[in-house]
Amino acid sequence: MRYVRLEVSGVERWGTPSSDEVVRLLDRAPYDGGEETGERASSARLLPPVDPTKIVCVGRNYAAHARELGNEVPSEPLLFFKPRSALIGSGEAIVLPRESQRIEHEGEIAIVVGRRLRRASEDEAARAVFAITAANDVTARDLQKKDVQFTRGKGFDTFCPIGPWIETETGPLDGITVETRVDGVIRQRGSSASMIFPIPTLLAYVSSIMTLVPGDVVLTGTPEGVGPLAPGQRVEVEVSGVGVLSSPVAAEG
Ligand code: ZN
Repeated sequence: MRYVRLEVSGVERWGTPSSDEVVRLLDRAPYDGGEETGERASSARLLPPVDPTKIVCVGRNYAAHARELGNEVPSEPLLFFKPRSALIGSGEAIVLPRESQRIEHEGEIAIVVGRRLRRASEDEAARAVFAITAANDVTARDLQKKDVQFTRGKGFDTFCPIGPWIETETGPLDGITVETRVDGVIRQRGSSASMIFPIPTLLAYVSSIMTLVPGDVVLTGTPEGVGPLAPGQRVEVEVSGVGVLSSPVAAEG
C-alpha cells in the first residue's frame, strides 16, 4: 500500500493514491490506524510523505562507500541526525547553500517505523518496519570534513528529499535496491544485502540509544559513487518496489 501526504485547505493530511490524480484522504497517520474519511483530493502537489519526531541517519554502512571517502569500516553503526526542516517532497528543488563549495548526493533506502521500539531485538525491529521509501542524504562534503559534528554539513534546508510516497509492501528487508542518477546517468547502485549493518540490526541498535516511535524515519546509509551536484541538474533516487524520488538542483537565489 502507498501513502502520501498533501496539503488540503491549509491542513497537512495523509492519503492513499487511488489514481494518478486522485488521493483518498485518511483521518490520521496510517501507522496510527488511519482510516479513509470518504474525502478526495488532487495529488497535484505532494508533501514529504513522512511526519517523524526524528530523522536518524547512518554513516558508512556500505564498505565500498566508507573506502571511497578514505574511512575505516565502523565496528558499530555511526549515527547522526537530520532536522525535519531539511525535508522536501519529490519535485521540490535542492537548494545549494552559498556556504559550501561541494554538495553531494547520497541516495539511500529510508525506513518508516510503525511501532514503538526501546531496546528491541532484531526480530522486533524487523516487525516494526511500517514502510520504505527513497531518500537523498544531501551533504555539504567540505563542511562535513571541517566540523566534528555532521550537523552543519547534513542539516541545510532542502538537504533531505524523500518520497514520492511510502510503500508498506517492502518485500524482504535484505533485498531492497537503490539507484541514484544525475541527469539520467547512473552514479550509485546498491542493495540492502550489502549493508554492513542490516536494517533490523540498525533499528535495534538505534532503539538501544533512543526510543523510536511510530512515524520516525531512519536513513540506512549510501552505497559508493557519491558525487557533486550543480545548479540545473536533476537527481533521482529509485528504490525497488517504491519508485523514483526526483529533485531539481538550484543555486541559492
Ligand atoms: Zn548518508
